[in-house]
Amino acid sequence: MSQLQSLRGMVDLLPDQTRRWQVVEGVARAHFLRSGVEEIRTPLLEVTDLFARGIGEATDVVGKEMYSFLDRGDRSCTLRPEGTASVVRAALQHGLLSQGAQKLWYAGSMFRYERPQAGRQRQFHQIGVEFLGVSSARSDVEVIALAWDLLSDLGVSGLKLQINSLGTLEDRQRYRQQLVNWLEARVDQLDADSQQRLKSNPLRILDSKHSTTQALLENAPTLLDALTDDSSQRFEAVQRFLNQLEIPFQLNPRLVRGLDYYGHTAFEITSDQLGAQATVCGGGRYDGLVQQLGGPHTPAVGWALGMERLMLVLDAAAAADADGAAATLISEKAPDLYLVNRGDQAEVVALKLARQLRAAGVSVELDATGAAFGKQFKRADRSGASWAAVIGDEEAKAGELLLKSLLVNGEEHRVLLDDPAQLIAVLQATT
Ligand code: ATP
Ligand code: MG
Repeated sequence: MSQLQSLRGMVDLLPDQTRRWQVVEGVARAHFLRSGVEEIRTPLLEVTDLFARGIGEATDVVGKEMYSFLDRGDRSCTLRPEGTASVVRAALQHGLLSQGAQKLWYAGSMFRYERPQAGRQRQFHQIGVEFLGVSSARSDVEVIALAWDLLSDLGVSGLKLQINSLGTLEDRQRYRQQLVNWLEARVDQLDADSQQRLKSNPLRILDSKHSTTQALLENAPTLLDALTDDSSQRFEAVQRFLNQLEIPFQLNPRLVRGLDYYGHTAFEITSDQLGAQATVCGGGRYDGLVQQLGGPHTPAVGWALGMERLMLVLDAAAAADADGAAATLISEKAPDLYLVNRGDQAEVVALKLARQLRAAGVSVELDATGAAFGKQFKRADRSGASWAAVIGDEEAKAGELLLKSLLVNGEEHRVLLDDPAQLIAVLQATT
């Protein structure tokens, strides 16, 4: 029978990867804990209308990337393509917003039907942050700093923070008209995709990856020039705070986010290690979304970070500097002890001892192959453990084990089996 494969763009994470993912997730969790940001977990499946209303029909995500289907009760369901709409829905559904401002984070799978390539999958993973009920420029910067500090802590260097202001809805509408007028006069120079967008979602043309369109846009009117004084001042405050925190940034007047609900501050953190899929983290302010989903007017700001792209950047950083923070962070952690054991009696004793030691916090790799001692020792060496404990039937009968250093040739201790504390003391003395 032919073997079954995973679906295109849906990727397995194998132990070598999950180990590294867990480290990154742990660092993120610790950051959120220290910053008073609490986790929220929402369903993978939502009613399609949530995303149609929350993200906007004219976006690529809703227009062509969603996994939508009718369930057995004929309801249109969608696998979530992003986290923000779900978080806002949950906050509204459970009345969280009436309890004051919310600082929330989430992590998990997202689904978009895109063309798979490096850093772009159909099931991918995001870690995201949403601050609901905060409006100040300072909150934009706190949220940006959270992403920046997390990435710095992971030891990924060479990142660029780009920021822009999308102003208010009125600013954008005014600018939209200016841009459409300008582009209509040059429509023959636009790529086909952008010609299409001229009618449906002209601001997204700014985001075009097409090189001739990009060149044309060099001279287009910019959103920053179309901002009212209030919007400009707000954006200047954001820049001032970033300067005060010594977080370097670049202005990118053509940065627009893919999703419709953004306004004022928009930002992306990019890496030059990622080729075309350069954006590791993207976010911004979305003051209109809560209302759009039926709630009270609630200002909000957040970001989402792509785990797959982060891991690519992290691997590059680790490869570039073997002693750097990234390499240390994702280096394989060896067990404290490798338990070599063989023989009917010995194997039971070893299994018991492994449980006792693990309960006491020692990480133990138990060799369960029953192979010859020599083979087990080879594996012990490869495991990276500093110590091997050897139990054969002879040791089991004598009620003791042989503890052999895998680092220092000839260093050995005989330790009583019924006194694991003695064994632990030897391990601790050497770590
Ligand atoms: P892009 O322009 O690369 O398609 P986007 O604007 O669609 O990104 P967002 O919706 O802002 O992306 O999602 C935030 C982050 O999630 C992105 O910066 C990226 O790191 C990651 N991401 C988005 N889509 C994918 C995907 N299909 N595969 C892997 N990661 C993704
Ligand atoms: Mg996209």
